[in-house]
Amino acid sequence: MKTIAISACLLGEKCRYDASDNKQETLITKLKGHTLIPFCPEDFAFGAPRPTMDLIQTSTGDRALSNTMGEDLSSPVIDYAKNFFDTHPNIDLVIGKDRSPSCGVCSARLYDVKKTLLSSSEAGLMMKEAIKRNIRCIDAEDYEDIK
Ligand code: SF4
Repeated sequence: MKTIAISACLLGEKCRYDASDNKQETLITKLKGHTLIPFCPEDFAFGAPRPTMDLIQTSTGDRALSNTMGEDLSSPVIDYAKNFFDTHPNIDLVIGKDRSPSCGVCSARLYDVKKTLLSSSEAGLMMKEAIKRNIRCIDAEDYEDIK
């Protein structure tokens, strides 16, 4: 049995920007028997519903900017991630929602400040923190690779 941290929306929590979920029944079935620890940095920081954000390459690194007012929303997400991994030191695996600017592992889109797409294979802000700590991470869409 493994301890697996997982994006809460994949388990059916209605924590997406539009207060919907990304429930993935097949994934949930595959993970039966493991201890699952859900997380959602954006819901914790901003609630749901909330404005969407994109990952933008800036002179101070990759930042999550609001798609409405353009404000930098990165710090609450990064703080949540640090606190989450500090308080859950024994995680064997993290499963992040693919393509999310917070939870994507190698599938988040990165834009420049003019919104030109630079990459579709980036880590979201919470996953950057996990990777920095050498915690194994995987995108949900790659769940077949889970051993
Ligand atoms: S992808 Fe991450 S931040 Fe977005 S709703 Fe799911 S858990 Fe929350």
